[in-house]
Amino acid sequence: MNFEVVIGLEVHAQLLTKTKIFCSCSTTFGDEPNANTCPVCTGLPGALPVLNRRVVEYAIRAGLATNCRIAERSVFARKNYFYPDLPKGYQISQYDLPICEDGFLDIFVDGEQKRIGITRIHMEEDAGKLVHPDDYSGVSYVDYNRACVPLLEIVSEPDMRSSAEAVAYLKGLRDILMYLEICDGNMEEGSFRCDANVSIRPFGQEEFGIRAELKNMNSFRNVQRAIDYEVERQREILEQGGRVIQETRLWDADQNISRSMRGKEEAHDYRYFPDPDLLPVVVEPSWIEAVRKSLPELPQAKRDRFMAEYGLPAADADILIGSRPLADYFEAAAAAAGNAKMVSNWILSELLRRLNDDKGSIESCPVSPAGLAGLLKLIENGTISGKIAKQVFAAMYAEGNDDAAGIVKARGLVQIDDRQALEEIVRRVLAAHPDEVEKFRQGKTKVFGFLVGQVMRETRGKANPGLVNELLRRELEG
Ligand code: ADP
Ligand code: MG
Ligand code: ZN
Repeated sequence: MNFEVVIGLEVHAQLLTKTKIFCSCSTTFGDEPNANTCPVCTGLPGALPVLNRRVVEYAIRAGLATNCRIAERSVFARKNYFYPDLPKGYQISQYDLPICEDGFLDIFVDGEQKRIGITRIHMEEDAGKLVHPDDYSGVSYVDYNRACVPLLEIVSEPDMRSSAEAVAYLKGLRDILMYLEICDGNMEEGSFRCDANVSIRPFGQEEFGIRAELKNMNSFRNVQRAIDYEVERQREILEQGGRVIQETRLWDADQNISRSMRGKEEAHDYRYFPDPDLLPVVVEPSWIEAVRKSLPELPQAKRDRFMAEYGLPAADADILIGSRPLADYFEAAAAAAGNAKMVSNWILSELLRRLNDDKGSIESCPVSPAGLAGLLKLIENGTISGKIAKQVFAAMYAEGNDDAAGIVKARGLVQIDDRQALEEIVRRVLAAHPDEVEKFRQGKTKVFGFLVGQVMRETRGKANPGLVNELLRRELEG
């Protein structure tokens, strides 16, 4: 039987506020266990939460950037459950009145655009962390540094129909949050995490199938694999006449399988009720408008502009908008060099390759946009060939030296444009390779490239390639 895949995603994004959502403890990652705690975030009796205004602002930013309606009044609720990393015995979250609702995000898969609905975005606190020592000795430690760190939960509609669509949605959402500078997007450290709800149904059936919820995927690759695995698991069950049960499953990235963790609880199990310690959150329309005005250009708008303004192909623009600093680098270099297409080509090939090899980031790139532009000017005005430019770029990068012209001069890399000098070299090369010349004259024109290579070698790459071609052709054919 043929099944259709249905996926809805719940994303938890840790917000980049300095302090926690309901107290003034630091949110810094990796500090000594329990260094960043106080009576509020350790749940001591009588301690009262005070809402961090910045969290609300960030939620509004996220909501506007994903086309949501911002509620002028939203309510914090207690979600009750017991777990040792949750000191109060409840998590403060939002339930029936979240701050953002009814948004969407457009994704592109195989060149096709598709709109994915966003059901809601709400604010909540993170839980602490259980730590099990390596020499597991029957003890568990609990670290409350993460308790009360602000999160946005972003819930999608069950609109995705493949793991590829799910990954495209996650990437798009992560890019937006990073452009907004409200989340660092680090999946490995858990500051951007996702639960995938997956079900399948026979094609043509309107009713959704029973879903499983997948947790614990800390990379896009794992999200894709976990979903694909889950779809196959459910397909086998249904094809054998069985029934999928609603449950939470954990992805095991080492073994590439998922395991059942627990039966899925229903909302009513949590006994949600409005938190009596917190007032409803009232957001004035003027605040929403002020936040709207402060939004940066978002990834998709930037991509469209790069294509229109600089004439870049979609695939190139997609890479350049990968992060705000990279996009800014490109624009600064394009402005200085004048030739945006050339700048783009150099960034996409030489520069990103080197950064990848070094695991470096564009922010710490040893060559500045002005330095790159200076190098490209030397190609355009014929001082050096593109090939020599790669050597010069390597030196600039290795030495953190922006002075391309200085390097060219110091190493004697200036292009040889002197017709006479080149003519002599060409003749010398032809005289030294009579066999190849003979082959060429018999129509084996492939040897032409070899002869060009010989001339370039003689000049240690400095000959003007266009001129070498012209002179060689004249000598051989003339
Ligand atoms: P909960 O919070 O209990 O997990 P929600 O109603 O908030 O439940 O839904 C969570 C996610 O599951 C949403 O992203 C939603 O789109 C998705 N979802 C709901 N039903 C299905 C289904 N049958 N198949 C796949 N995804 C689903
Ligand atoms: Mg869920
Ligand atoms: Zn605290």
